[in-house]
Amino acid sequence: LADESVGMEALLESPMERCASEDGKPAFALPARLYGAQRPNSEGLDPAVAEHRERLFAAWRQVAVPRVPEASAGEASAAARRAAEAFDAWNHRPVAERAAVLRRAADAMQAQLPPLCALLVAEARKTWPDAIAEVREAIDFLRYYATEAERLLAPVELPGPTGERNTLRLHGRGAWVCISPWNFPLAIFTGQVAAALVTGNTVLAKPAEQTPAIAREAVRLLHAAGVPAEVLQLLHGPGETVGAALVAEPAVAGVVFTGSTPVAKAIQRALAAKDGPIVPLIAETGGVNAMLVDSSALPEQVADAVVQSAFRSAGQRCSALRLLCVHESIADGVIEMVRGAAQALVVGDPTDLATDVGPLIDAEAFDGVARHLARLRTTARALLPEGEDATTHTVAPQLFEIRHVAEASQEIFGPVLQVLRWRGDPKDVIAQVNALGYGLTLGLQTRIDSRALALAAQARAGNVYVNRNTIGAVVGVQPFGGEGLSGTGPKAGGPHYLPRFCAEQTLTINT
Ligand code: GLU
Repeated sequence: LADESVGMEALLESPMERCASEDGKPAFALPARLYGAQRPNSEGLDPAVAEHRERLFAAWRQVAVPRVPEASAGEASAAARRAAEAFDAWNHRPVAERAAVLRRAADAMQAQLPPLCALLVAEARKTWPDAIAEVREAIDFLRYYATEAERLLAPVELPGPTGERNTLRLHGRGAWVCISPWNFPLAIFTGQVAAALVTGNTVLAKPAEQTPAIAREAVRLLHAAGVPAEVLQLLHGPGETVGAALVAEPAVAGVVFTGSTPVAKAIQRALAAKDGPIVPLIAETGGVNAMLVDSSALPEQVADAVVQSAFRSAGQRCSALRLLCVHESIADGVIEMVRGAAQALVVGDPTDLATDVGPLIDAEAFDGVARHLARLRTTARALLPEGEDATTHTVAPQLFEIRHVAEASQEIFGPVLQVLRWRGDPKDVIAQVNALGYGLTLGLQTRIDSRALALAAQARAGNVYVNRNTIGAVVGVQPFGGEGLSGTGPKAGGPHYLPRFCAEQTLTINT
């Protein structure tokens, strides 16, 4: 997968070849050194390359985000009916055809990498490295689910007595509603839609109202790759109205949702209240993710992992680190390093290549984080200077020392980390983290392998990372998703995801 997709590495190795435009001229001529340095700037670059780079980025910083019309309740109903009618024909197409469509869309996305990145930066306020990583992830989802579907939907012959043939076959369930979040508005959107489509379902896609334009681009590419218009329909608008209207539609056969835990529960209640078939829900929600550091850990490695996990993407990942639990014997040193590294991060305009921590998505998100910060400043010990800007919605990394795991019971969706010192048995710390009820990511920093394995086994967390950061799960490599308050499973980008979009048929023939 890594070989086939456009990742940061690919750009670094051969940006010109990978990203040639139709006339053969480089469309995305990032000099290899651009992302090699911690702090990308023009220093040391060939002046011609530096100038070219500045011109390109100046152009991409101008990208205008197109406006999209909101769907009405009537349009949502009509779309649901169309999706239900279109189901049989799409479901009966050979899986290889649907997989080929996904692969064509992946190729198109790869070719469109620069404008898609520019739109992600402009609309979702992503930093450039985050935008590139996100397009790569979307491409990975398309290719991975194409391959997985071909494997999974192949009929399986089962044993039986003489004179009987048994075959098990998976197929689509009907029209799925795909509701995706603004924090991965291309990757998660594409992942949900691709999984539903390739297994034979039709799709009503409702992207987050903050990021409709990038979803529209993804749909445009999927339609151009061969998905019929009625098989994939895009409906814009707020979750409370358009999302709720779609979920309530009688024709809906399944819902896949990524977002907050309360909204996942509201969807579950709405589905349960409907007459008709029992409708499955796949929900991926938030997390209060911890990292446990014992006395054998390497402080430099811990500091690097912590800064990446807590502050990259301005903490707007459900995988992000929220609670650092450091053994008291090395706590002073680790905290000092994290403080120093956090203060070295550049906070600001995401279109600026030097920016490490961009803004929060909007005023509402900013206000929510600001409320948590006001609370923490009275209940915990602040270890970094204040740094909120209500105009730009930026928040400088924040670190608070707390005394009990339970104080960190709420997910704060921003660059805010809580730290506590522990002593005694690390199993007690994991038990307290488990008791918070979430179960998404967990970091363990220890040189004692047996301890890492024992704590991982004890932890109720979907993704456990040892001696590294806790973000950036790779499709097909680190299937992603949690349990408890963090979601229903199955894991996106893993081998058990597609079966949940399928119905199964056992065919028994008396021969
Ligand atoms: N898959 C992403 C990661 O591993 C997080 C997805 C999310 O925030 O919803 O960092």
